[in-house]
Amino acid sequence: MKKIFAANWKLHISPREAREFFEEFQLLPLADAELIFFPSAISAEAVSESLKKTPHSFGLQHCHWEESGAFTGENSMKVLKELGGKYVLIGHSERRSLFGESDIDVNRKARKAQNLGLTPLICIGESLEEREQKKTFRVLETQLELATRELENSFVIAYEPVWAIGTGQVASAEQVAEAHQFIAEQLEKKGFSGRPLLYGGSVKPENAAQLLKVANVHGFLIGGASLKPEILGKIIQSM
Ligand code: PEP
Repeated sequence: MKKIFAANWKLHISPREAREFFEEFQLLPLADAELIFFPSAISAEAVSESLKKTPHSFGLQHCHWEESGAFTGENSMKVLKELGGKYVLIGHSERRSLFGESDIDVNRKARKAQNLGLTPLICIGESLEEREQKKTFRVLETQLELATRELENSFVIAYEPVWAIGTGQVASAEQVAEAHQFIAEQLEKKGFSGRPLLYGGSVKPENAAQLLKVANVHGFLIGGASLKPEILGKIIQSM
């Protein structure tokens, strides 16, 4: 399986900055990997145009499960498809904690995405409190169970311990290894096979090579370190 590097640009990077990003990014010598960009909705068209002659894909950081209707402020997966998007990021911990996205919402969105031929990239992960209370596996099991109900075997999972996102505090190789093994076993039990498992949480050029060697880590979901072409390029080159 090709390694996957997914860039979550959050509420950064305007359409103009996105075009500039790709002008610089295309000059970098990149290893053979699958690259996915998640711009903010307002920059999606600029990203779509910039990626037209490249093998890279893009998606949105959040979409509604309805294609259209009276849902002020929401993004439509149907429109994303029309723009050439291939992925939808679902259940990111910032969406869960700041905007109340529930496990049920995650599943509704994932099913809708598959219905439209998009690939859901579903985030799961425990909070610091849950880890300290030794509830990590229970949280992962529940989030995974609810997110993947009635899904087809075409999704990507990102393990993102909430305490490692945007904090500079990366999970250790051992912590990532045990979480990824647990997720892989759970998926197998549910009859899913070959699903890519990404790690996310303060990935940067300094820790990428070590984390990529961990069993069952098929790539990264990268926030802060994906905003600069040369830094993202270094992470990809660490393969
Ligand atoms: C993320 O937003 O999914 C993420 C992992 O952020 P960061 O890499 O900045 O921790």
